[in-house]
Amino acid sequence: MLGSGSATPTLDRHQTAQLLNYNGDYFLIDCGEATQYRLIEQRARPSRLKYIFISHLHGDHYFGLMPLLSSLNMGGRTEPLYLFGPRGLDEVITTTFRVSNGKFFFPLHFQSINPDVPTLLLDLPGLTVESIPLDHGIECTGFLFREKPYKPRLLRERLPAEVSIEALKTLKEGHDVLNDTGQVQYAAADYTTPGPAARSYAYCSDTRYNERILHQIQGIDLLYHEATFRDDNAGRASEVHHTTARQAAALAQKAGVGRLLIGHFSSRYKTYDGFLAEAQEVFANTELAIEGQQFPV
Ligand SMILES: [Zn+2]
Ligand SMILES: [Zn+2]
Repeated sequence: MLGSGSATPTLDRHQTAQLLNYNGDYFLIDCGEATQYRLIEQRARPSRLKYIFISHLHGDHYFGLMPLLSSLNMGGRTEPLYLFGPRGLDEVITTTFRVSNGKFFFPLHFQSINPDVPTLLLDLPGLTVESIPLDHGIECTGFLFREKPYKPRLLRERLPAEVSIEALKTLKEGHDVLNDTGQVQYAAADYTTPGPAARSYAYCSDTRYNERILHQIQGIDLLYHEATFRDDNAGRASEVHHTTARQAAALAQKAGVGRLLIGHFSSRYKTYDGFLAEAQEVFANTELAIEGQQFPV
């Protein structure tokens, strides 16, 4: 968790940014002001950064992007970088580099996100990333990271020595091996054990309370949802397209997620305790997105 404050920065709360580490590859989710300092502080190697996702073009979610790209460029990066964000972000980058006569030394691939429909953005061998349309007054999407199902594990010690490579492949896919007459020779259930459960993480910031996201976040392991306000400002939250801690917890409860992480705290609240207490009344398995902490899925 690199930053979990909202628009007004304070010395101990930074603007939004998260780093997702998946098998050593880094996915940066939003890039508020000073994100690159937060990355240095966490000793996150820039070369591992492969993908950047920007939810929307309010400054507290992307004003750290230009300096980060500039540093990657000066650092001699040559590997491609994949950037996903709202349309218009490419114009900002192009203009910034054009007026300073700058030149990119690495390929920067930009894909604009359709803000209206859930869209598959990335399909990697072990993982997919999908957009989640949010309700924030301007084009804004969250991101759903979902591991693909793991293949079953082969129990080699149970198999006879003469079993063919073809049969092993079939078992590894989770299918039974049949003999010439169509009878089961090796049943997958006898020679394999299920692989680990596939994990999932959803990032939803910024947004008004929005039940239309429920079908996408149903049953996921970890949900990050913004909770800019508390109950005392529920009216204000709706007016400015944000959510309260209680509403975030209600969504988590309705979607049956494993754990809820709340953040994007307004600087008008000097402590976090009230956010946690309010959310936990509705959904006990809630944690605060404290900056600098890691949250394993
Ligand atoms: Zn924000
Ligand atoms: Zn915003």
